[in-house]
Amino acid sequence: MFITLLSILIMSTTRITTYTLPVLPYPSHALEPVISKATLENHHGKHFAAYVNNLNKMIPGSEYEGLLVEEIVQQAADGPIYNNAGQVMNHKLYFEQFIPTAQYKVPGRRITHAINYHFGGMEAFKKQMNEAAMSIFGSGWVWLAMDTEGRLVIVKESGGGNPWRRGMTPILGIDCWEHSWYLDYAFDKKVHFDTLWEIMNWDVIESRLPL
Ligand code: MN
Repeated sequence: MFITLLSILIMSTTRITTYTLPVLPYPSHALEPVISKATLENHHGKHFAAYVNNLNKMIPGSEYEGLLVEEIVQQAADGPIYNNAGQVMNHKLYFEQFIPTAQYKVPGRRITHAINYHFGGMEAFKKQMNEAAMSIFGSGWVWLAMDTEGRLVIVKESGGGNPWRRGMTPILGIDCWEHSWYLDYAFDKKVHFDTLWEIMNWDVIESRLPL
């Protein structure tokens, strides 16, 4: 028993020492014209990097030391640590789910079937996601998530929220913070949300569906 507890303790204090900024899976100009190179470099290289740096300042010596970002999102009380961990988790999911328009592939059978079943069709689903994104006041996220009963649901979160905190599985996330669209679309963020669908990597999104 002692050995088990000790090894758990060692594991939990040595697992994670530094949080790192994930490398983009495509060049920074690759999502143009939907997301400009300038927006992508700013969003990934400044905003996402800042959330990672903040975690590296706040976590050492805290009760969350050694935990995965996903564990911090589940466990941390509302506040700066939760906000930054949430944003690190969110932006990792966000940037991984895109692909250059030239490489775009239509959604596969599993994700298509799931979306058709729960939303009545892909166009109806996109419309609901976009309406949810437009209805976020201030900073937040819209998620397609699988709830604890296996239903696909659209979830709105303020700040750096992720439905993962409440036991749901995030499948697809739309960043509604101004830093994600303002430089390219100024006062017409609807165009940003509408065109984001042209760069969705449905293979990645489908792979997040629990089996
Ligand atoms: Mn963002």
